[in-house]
Amino acid sequence: MTPVPATGPGSPVLDIRGLSVAYGTGDDAVQAIDAIDLTLHRGEVLGLAGESGSGKSTLAYGATRLLPPPGVITGGQVLYHPSSGGSMDLLTMSDRQLRAFRWQETSIVFQGAMNSLNPVSRISEQLTDVIRAHRPATGAQEQRARAADLLRLVGIADDRLDSYPHQLSGGMRQRVMIAMALALDPDVVIMDEPTTALDVVMQRQILARLRDLRDRFDFAVVFITHDLSLLVEFSDRIAIMYGGRLVEDAAAHELYRSPRHPYTHGLLNSFPALRGERRELTGIPGSPPDLKALPSGCVLHPRCAHAMQLCTRHRPKLTTPAGDEASGRHVACWLHHPQAATPEHLARTAPPAAARFDHRAPTLQSGR
Ligand code: ATP
Ligand code: SF4
Repeated sequence: MTPVPATGPGSPVLDIRGLSVAYGTGDDAVQAIDAIDLTLHRGEVLGLAGESGSGKSTLAYGATRLLPPPGVITGGQVLYHPSSGGSMDLLTMSDRQLRAFRWQETSIVFQGAMNSLNPVSRISEQLTDVIRAHRPATGAQEQRARAADLLRLVGIADDRLDSYPHQLSGGMRQRVMIAMALALDPDVVIMDEPTTALDVVMQRQILARLRDLRDRFDFAVVFITHDLSLLVEFSDRIAIMYGGRLVEDAAAHELYRSPRHPYTHGLLNSFPALRGERRELTGIPGSPPDLKALPSGCVLHPRCAHAMQLCTRHRPKLTTPAGDEASGRHVACWLHHPQAATPEHLARTAPPAAARFDHRAPTLQSGR
């Protein structure tokens, strides 16, 4: 594999190691995400997918320490610029360090953010507020010029600078939020359902603009959406979550072309094909797990048509399947575990009678 530079293009910018988050404490605690490992690289768009409640937002907010109560980080590290000598763990930063860090290094566009603009304040004031708070030495004229630049960057004419939010369309307000997120040239931008309330044409326009900006400024994006077709189209890499665990991460086109994890198969089969022949949408039988009573072993096993005895007892770790070393794919499934997925091993752990293969289930590709 080509060695990754410490701070240049393609270098790791955020390294999430074993991140766990619970909501509440004691007997009422719910483990919303459990021991997540994920690396974000400079200039990449990483899409997060999974059914509702799988932990996508918790992962994004936990990694940036923006969890609302009763969310509690129960373990892990989040290293910023992990390969450089001055790497910092966000989870051990003081509140003061975090305040400086946010917006400047990492910014976030929340779900429904366009409705969080202050209705009685002009767009110019809201943009310059962010600049002034972090760069107090910047003069008023320079702040206004930067605000106008930012609006132009997201495709809004600067004669809108003195508009109030209600004078802009929903798409424009959302673009203002993206402009705000880019105000201080962050290295990482987190976008939680950034275009959900907009029509499909506007969604694509905004995401195409975002991708252009990423190409120019080389920031990394964590992009969360329920729309898997948008995710495949605009992400470089996709991470799939299920029951608070990461089950697969791979380059977007590879994940779409040849998903490995049965849950990824199911998720892709719940959406119409992006191109090519029409196919039957089979979906995923059953419901997402109750986080208070998670199944033993692999959390998917009650819904998985390929479950074996091994799956009901032992949790599969995220590993690189044989043959996927060069692509950097990771999968948490015994079918693809480099040690477990041998014919002899699978024969020893034959599926229990109750978990026969579903004839509708997609064909698994267990290698090349
Ligand atoms: P969605 O796609 O619906 O936004 P998600 O994949 O982002 O879902 P999260 O919002 O991260 O999932 O939620 C993960 C789990 O944590 C869910 O089971 C949810 O019920 C639980 N959870 C989230 N917020 C809270 C909270 N404030 N208190 C208790 N549990 C919560
Ligand atoms: Fe299915 Fe077993 Fe793989 Fe889990 S580990 S996804 S139950 S085959």
